[in-house]
Amino acid sequence: MDKQQEFVLRTLEERDIRFVRLWFTDVLGYLKSVAVAPAELEQAFDEGMGFDGSAIEGFARVYESDMIAKPDPGTFQVLPWRAEAPGTARMFCDILMPDGSPSYADPRFVLKRALAKTSDLGFTFYTHPEIEFFLLKERPVDGTPPTPADSSGYFDHTPQNVGMDFRRTAITMLESMGISVEFSHHEGAPGQQEIDLRYADALSTADNIMTFRLVMKQVALEQGVHATFMPKPFSEHPGSGMHSHLSLFEGDRNAFYESGAEFQLSKVGRSFIAGLLRHAGEISAVTNQWVNSYKRIWGGSQRTAGAGGEAPSYICWGHNNRSALIRVPMYKPGKTGSTRVEVRSLDSGANPYLAYAVLLAAGMKGIQEGYELPAGADDDVWALTDAERRALGIEPLPQNLGEAITLMERSELVAETLGEHVFDFFLRNKKQEWEEYRSEVTAFELRKNLPNL
Ligand code: GLU
Ligand code: MG
Ligand code: MG
Repeated sequence: MDKQQEFVLRTLEERDIRFVRLWFTDVLGYLKSVAVAPAELEQAFDEGMGFDGSAIEGFARVYESDMIAKPDPGTFQVLPWRAEAPGTARMFCDILMPDGSPSYADPRFVLKRALAKTSDLGFTFYTHPEIEFFLLKERPVDGTPPTPADSSGYFDHTPQNVGMDFRRTAITMLESMGISVEFSHHEGAPGQQEIDLRYADALSTADNIMTFRLVMKQVALEQGVHATFMPKPFSEHPGSGMHSHLSLFEGDRNAFYESGAEFQLSKVGRSFIAGLLRHAGEISAVTNQWVNSYKRIWGGSQRTAGAGGEAPSYICWGHNNRSALIRVPMYKPGKTGSTRVEVRSLDSGANPYLAYAVLLAAGMKGIQEGYELPAGADDDVWALTDAERRALGIEPLPQNLGEAITLMERSELVAETLGEHVFDFFLRNKKQEWEEYRSEVTAFELRKNLPNL
């Protein structure tokens, strides 16, 4: 037994913890949990816990359904909303096949495999997510349009704002679970919140995002509201993005940084962005995986009332350009460690393991193939005409899930990164979602056509 495992077992005793939840994530990004008694844990560390994978989205077919969840002791945390003794704790798990090999269906493994490839080339991948979400008055039940929990706006600080109390409680909880928060504020839409996590290696960030979603839902429940990570719950307001700042380090050196270069951006950084741009279309179905995701990207006219709310629609990069898919922020000129790339397409409904894996793969492809970075866009690309954008070589992101699926289906990069099993499952599942949506007669059509046709 190693030191981390010993620490877990000792803490269980010292803190009177009677329930240990083993967490993992299915292919669509839903958190799953199985509770074990502390007495079982020593064995779980050794051999893992068996479970029936056929019941989990994307895991196994019925005839090969035995799977094993092996807890990662480095992720042990006591659940703060179950603080009273006897307590409850959790660990993230790796999913194994009955023969002990990693499961090809485990999103955490997909990311680990992508990280291992990157580390073979000498790089560590760090991410820092800005997570946006909505607080709603009530738990949604039957497709009725939601009501935001407050009527505040960007950075508003008002006493009747439920968000303030909410954010204080939520952040305290996150920090007690070892998740550092960089900053938080009310976002642009009524009821919309943003909390930014401090940068960490991508695997920890992805684990932290899964924890984050549960903590937000838990705190919301305690405060009589409901938290949602749906990308675009309101037609008339901006959606919820999960902009992520990405960087690569070689040892303690930021590989994107080059003193004196334009935007202090090294050749490695430039090729990484070029990779993200070139493969943006084919990875879209993963970074923006729901029918609803495309309502955020194309939601309303960004040029009017702001219902699109600065979500990117076009494939381009810029320095301080919030209409661009990729932005190279420079908040602290001269600070060597802070050069990074902000990807703005990713939304809050993504599976963070798969999304970080495909973003990393796209950027690394750019580095390995030495892609040249096209010229940046200084203009507000939403304000240009289609012809002007075409002249600048700026392509749109997929306009809907159907288009995104078509691009993904042809993508070697995505197939290789997700692995055959996750790739096939994901496509099958998303095609079904798209078909269901396509065949539904919507409120829009009834409104538009029923009175007149
Ligand atoms: N809510 C916007 C989006 O969907 C982002 C607003 C911002 O933080 O710039 O991406
Ligand atoms: Mg924001
Ligand atoms: Mg941002």
